[in-house]
Amino acid sequence: MTSTTASHAADLVAALLFILSLAGLSQHRTSRAGVGYGIAGMALALVATIVLAAQSITAGAVALIIIAMALGGALGLWRARQVEMTQMPELIAVLHSFVGLAAVLVGWDSYLEVESHGSGQTRIAADLLGIHHAEVFIGIFIGAVTFTGSIVAFLKLSARIASRPLTLPGKNALNLGALAAFAALTIWFTVSPDLALMVAVTVLALALGWHLVASIGGGDMPVVVSMLNSYSGWAAAAAGFLLDNNLLIVTGALVGSSGAYLSYIMCKAMNRSFISVIAGGFGIESPARGDEEQGEHREIRAREAAELLAQASSVVITPGYGMAVAQAQHPVAELTRRLRERGVEVRFGVHPVAGRLPGHMNVLLAEAKVPYDIVLEMDEINDDFAETSVVLVIGANDTVNPAATDDPSSPIAGMPVLRVWEAEHVVVFKRSMASGYAGVQNPLFFRENSSMLFGDAKQSVDAILQALGDAGPHASGPAAQQTAAAG
Ligand code: NDP
Repeated sequence: MTSTTASHAADLVAALLFILSLAGLSQHRTSRAGVGYGIAGMALALVATIVLAAQSITAGAVALIIIAMALGGALGLWRARQVEMTQMPELIAVLHSFVGLAAVLVGWDSYLEVESHGSGQTRIAADLLGIHHAEVFIGIFIGAVTFTGSIVAFLKLSARIASRPLTLPGKNALNLGALAAFAALTIWFTVSPDLALMVAVTVLALALGWHLVASIGGGDMPVVVSMLNSYSGWAAAAAGFLLDNNLLIVTGALVGSSGAYLSYIMCKAMNRSFISVIAGGFGIESPARGDEEQGEHREIRAREAAELLAQASSVVITPGYGMAVAQAQHPVAELTRRLRERGVEVRFGVHPVAGRLPGHMNVLLAEAKVPYDIVLEMDEINDDFAETSVVLVIGANDTVNPAATDDPSSPIAGMPVLRVWEAEHVVVFKRSMASGYAGVQNPLFFRENSSMLFGDAKQSVDAILQALGDAGPHASGPAAQQTAAAG
């Protein structure tokens, strides 16, 4: 077997491992194996690519590749060990920007290679040169949109810029105009390639990527992150065509299509138009800001909250991003255990976009060993709030905001939310009256049955545990009394 055939065989095995990886990652139970398949596939792909490349490049160039890989690998390992769970989405956004930048550089390199050698001295046949030029242009366009779009996503997710949507006058016309200009430039470049056109498409795509993501509001950022994941896949596939690397094409297409499908599922879950989100909020004109206070709020202390819980027959906990920031999942799990011991029915209601990445809350609750069977999805719990004694909203905000259902002018209008306000009592754990990620004030805080428990969520839950302990370890809730009477 020649090394070329061996390398193609390795590509095929790596592609299969990537497919197994995606399948594994689709379920909690098999996700570890999924990650393992992905690592094995990537290791195989890298070795096969370097072995094949080593035949046509100098030993010095191979050494440079290995040094670059060692540096990149060390940097990646260091960041992965450092990163907090709450910073994961911003790290992913940065990684997507690298894929976009790589696609832009590959496109420029490919153009300059042909320009400096002339078509006769490159691997590209003269009659395929037009196709090659179109590939260069499309690759640079997708890569540059992904690059700046991901940087804006990083800035928004890390709160370095406001998550509010940018609403330039005529923003839809600007986006459509940029797409039309790209189509015209591509035709022009295919017929008569020119450095000025390369600069023009790069600048145009960089500006479009920035504008597309800047125009999307905070509440829609989960869809943007998965959409940029998809774009980064297509950018990698475009680079694969330019580098004549089949595995990169296959891998890019897998990432691109799975990211697009995830964006579609998330749009459906959040009742958003897929086209509107991928087109930078197309069709949504300047939503109301809605971050001003809306009346009087009531405050509650930890001891009073503990008394409320001790008297409750059923409790639902709706965690959000603030629980992750406070790392409150362990005391929350302990509170759950203590209340259940007292005979209180405790369940969790998890919104699909709570936190800052899909599945964020489920991961934290699993880490704190909260039993799976009491962790319910939004659709499973929403009809039960009306029969619930107390809801503890722990660091959640947008995902429990009634404005999404009551106020058609709200930036989050139409997004399904946890209907916590239907419960008898709602206790909201947060540090201030600040709005949630979407920058929208929450009318829940001003409802008759809501009380604010201000402070860091972990400290507040610890204080409730302390108060429950002070009240004695004995069961005192109605459910416990019923159990005792029955016994
Ligand atoms: P939000 O981001 O809406 O609100 C979190 C709340 O937690 C804030 O109001 C904050 O209030 C409070 N908080 C922060 N730190 C603490 C702390 N230490 N102790 C107590 N409270 C704290 O949370 P949700 O989970 O409800 O909603 C998620 C939002 O993020 C949605 O808009 C979603 O679209 C978006 N998003 C989700 C992604 C995903 O994939 N899941 C990805 C990107 C964005 P205060 O400052 O007053 O304490």
